Amino acid sequence: MEVSLKRAAEILAKANNIIVTGHIYPDGDSLGSILALSEALASFNKKVQMYIDDDIPLVYHFLKGAENVQKPEGKVQADLLVVLDASDDERIGKVKSITDAPILNIDHHISNIKFADYWYLDTKAAATGEIIMALLNIMHAKITPDIAAALYTAIATDCGFFRYANTTANTMTQAARLIEHGAKPNIIAETLETKPLNTILALKEVLDSLEFYDDGKVATITLLPELIEATSTTEGFINYPRNIEGVEVAVMFKVVEEGSVRISMRSKEVDVSKIALQFGGGGHKRAAGCTMPGDIKAVKDQLLSAIHRHVNSGQMRFEQ
Ligand code: 5GP
Ligand code: MN
Repeated sequence: MEVSLKRAAEILAKANNIIVTGHIYPDGDSLGSILALSEALASFNKKVQMYIDDDIPLVYHFLKGAENVQKPEGKVQADLLVVLDASDDERIGKVKSITDAPILNIDHHISNIKFADYWYLDTKAAATGEIIMALLNIMHAKITPDIAAALYTAIATDCGFFRYANTTANTMTQAARLIEHGAKPNIIAETLETKPLNTILALKEVLDSLEFYDDGKVATITLLPELIEATSTTEGFINYPRNIEGVEVAVMFKVVEEGSVRISMRSKEVDVSKIALQFGGGGHKRAAGCTMPGDIKAVKDQLLSAIHRHVNSGQMRFEQ
């Protein structure tokens, strides 16, 4: 059932024992939203447990409470499972099976499949963190400096630090409020931008893998398992093909293991969420992803021909 944000706040108020989760391959938005909502719920004396079916990237360990996020195992007692920043229940991995509690889903992905018992979806929000900010307001929750840092991280990372097309006046207004509540933009930006040396060294090889298709409108990078092993993170790599002049669609292929390829797509105008959905993934118009079975060559052929159809279907250009 679709619910208003006010109704979502009431559902949360009624529950006492709450599990909060987000998508696998956690990013700043999913993790920041989980941490912020969980801290706010705990301040109302709720029992809150955070679960993510994945490791939390090192770069986000500076966020307070990240150390308390658990990996799902066995069954967990709860009145409510809150799923943040995830558009389908496959995206939360094993967390789905640790409880039979009703699900409240709060999300901003256009590809959301409305799988939950209760869902609040705002595809205009730049980040789930922006929605959580409004929710905390309705709940009259105190925005502590830790909540402010978590939500600022959530919002800033999903809108490319206020540069992407999803950035709205509301995005910046909420970010400004978070700064008033103690978020430190310079420290958060610097922490997220600082990379281990192994990542910069891996980047040399990543750039060597650059390939172009469709008259330079499509650019790809490819990471084989050894390279993925060698770097602490692949965060930000996709921006290199994305930022090349004339490129409309950028793709990162990550061969996470033999026979399984994880794909990230970024676009200037093509709706890549449609392409990702076609292969069982999802996302936003300009940032989406999926995981495809098969060897890298077959996966590349399949995905690039799907992109080719979109790039050449005329839906790429925006008439002005
Ligand atoms: P990224 O490329 O940064 O992993 O993901 C870009 C966007 O697409 C994010 O909003 C992310 O949540 C979404 N996304 C990425 N991969 C998948 C996927 O496999 N399934 C779904 N439903 N969404 C995805
Ligand atoms: Mn998000």
